[in-house]
Amino acid sequence: MLILKKIGNVFELIFKVLFPDLCLACSMRPKSKTTIFCSHCLTSLPLTDHFEVKMNTVKMHLAGRVPLHHGAALLTFRKEGIVQHILHQLKYKNRPVIGKVMGKMAASKLEQSVLFEKPDIVIPVPIHPNKIKKRGYNQSTVFGHSLGKAIHVPCDDTILIKIIENPSQTGKSRTERVDNVAGGFKVVRTSAILNKHILVVDDVITTGATIEACCNILLDAGAGKISVLCIAAAES
Ligand SMILES: [Zn+2]
Repeated sequence: MLILKKIGNVFELIFKVLFPDLCLACSMRPKSKTTIFCSHCLTSLPLTDHFEVKMNTVKMHLAGRVPLHHGAALLTFRKEGIVQHILHQLKYKNRPVIGKVMGKMAASKLEQSVLFEKPDIVIPVPIHPNKIKKRGYNQSTVFGHSLGKAIHVPCDDTILIKIIENPSQTGKSRTERVDNVAGGFKVVRTSAILNKHILVVDDVITTGATIEACCNILLDAGAGKISVLCIAAAES
């Protein structure tokens, strides 16, 4: 039995050398032991200063559009960059673990930040049920649940829902995008958010149109205060 076990271990080792568990960011180098990334990618993740800087990119994106308590993104999004690749894996390649890891990272940043007050509830930007069926999960919900669990705040994806499935937003101007998303959301249980401090979470902010629509509908429905936290935001 012992010999069989040893042979099994050898095969396992050979298998690991031939097919190493690859980094979820670069898909080239093996993962480091403790995370889903290789050590090279882990150290080159473009972390923002949003948790320490009052007027940061997210706040500036949404200035005059949403009265925010505070807003931040964990990473800086650049076209063709490592963050775009990570988000693509999270969204389209069935890698919810990326959302979980990002949630934990964002939680530790939020807890250290003097600019963020602890929210009462975390609400993910919803996607249409048809998209959830296709993708298997909402990437923002995965991120929100992991974040909420780590900071001991409930995350609820049943309060704000998406009722209209949007046509693709690619190629539309910002004004058109605002019109396009504004009517697509609905608050289902207003009693759950009344006068509460809500942390709205999403995967990425580009124009800010989607998050703007979500924040404003929550405020209209009686939310007391809104903050925003995303995995990534484009530099303005
Ligand atoms: Zn890597």
